Amino acid sequence: MRYEAPSSLDQAVALLTAEPGEARVLAGGTDLLVQLRTDLIEPALLVDIKRIAETRQVAEEGGGFRIGAAVTGAELKEHPKLKAVWPGLVESANLIGSTQVQGRATMGGNLCNGSPAADSVPALIAAAAIASIAGSNGRRELPVEDVMLAPRRLALSKGEIIASFLLPPKPARAADAYLRFIPRTEMDIAVVGCGVCLTLDAAGTCTAARVSLGAVAPRPLLVADAAKALIGSKLDAGALERLDAAARAACQPIDDKRGTKDYRVKVAGVLARRAAQIAYERARRA
Ligand SMILES: Cc1cc2nc3c(=O)[nH]c(=O)nc-3n(C[C@H](O)[C@H](O)[C@H](O)COP(=O)(O)OP(=O)(O)OC[C@H]3O[C@@H](n4cnc5c(N)ncnc54)[C@H](O)[C@@H]3O)c2cc1C
Repeated sequence: MRYEAPSSLDQAVALLTAEPGEARVLAGGTDLLVQLRTDLIEPALLVDIKRIAETRQVAEEGGGFRIGAAVTGAELKEHPKLKAVWPGLVESANLIGSTQVQGRATMGGNLCNGSPAADSVPALIAAAAIASIAGSNGRRELPVEDVMLAPRRLALSKGEIIASFLLPPKPARAADAYLRFIPRTEMDIAVVGCGVCLTLDAAGTCTAARVSLGAVAPRPLLVADAAKALIGSKLDAGALERLDAAARAACQPIDDKRGTKDYRVKVAGVLARRAAQIAYERARRA
């Protein structure tokens, strides 16, 4: 197996594209190295993207933020502004694994590993993040909700790399939240994850919403009906009940050792309510 660590995206794309065998991007390696050691994958080439400056920066851009795909969860937490503006997103990346894992794990890797239970993905979707993708035909942009198609299957062509995520400018009185449920207190995979981002008017009525669910379908979901349940409300009991029902209706979960289908569906409604209430309180103070 060959290891390359180029310093530009163009070089990285060229290496990945030219390799006739299996080639993989290496970011934090917290998924990839486990898969290598257990012989799940046997790539001919690993292209480490951590020496590419663009993938390692968090920068303010057009009133929003551009987050390099290889920025770690620990680095996101230490950014002087990001946590104040996007607390849910930063919290989602810092639920991943342990302190040690958070020092390596990236949002690019979390998304591109292709797990429906990836924690930072519903938070990115709720934040309306756009993935900037570098490939042999140049750059293209894709909303994060369109990147993962099914478990381990992405809408990326050979040689394509996610370079960064663009978070749009956040309006006044808007805020996000992410919650997940796991059977243990830490170091486990989500039974359900839920990201919510809400915008309120001056009277506290919700004017815009995005609700995303993880671990309840073959891919993370953007649930338009759940957002509709909140818009026009002050998150009164009726709106929360409609949100709960819309979240449950969107689920197509599996049964596994962490939870049955029925259990996942029930938890999805409960987490959606709780995440929406946290986002609402944050938005009122924003
Ligand atoms: C002990 C432990 C606990 C964990 N706990 C959690 C958890 O609680 N929640 C959770 O969601 N995950 C968890 N994980 C999984 C893992 O840590 C995360 O998915 C992590 O975010 C992966 O990021 P990475 O940078 O390490 O990715 P890598 O391992 O470097 O890469 C993962 C995959 O994505 C591809 N890839 C990486 N970056 C890019 C890119 N920019 N463009 C294109 N392809 C790319 C790689 O080729 C590879 O296929 C855990 C893992 C371990 C070992």
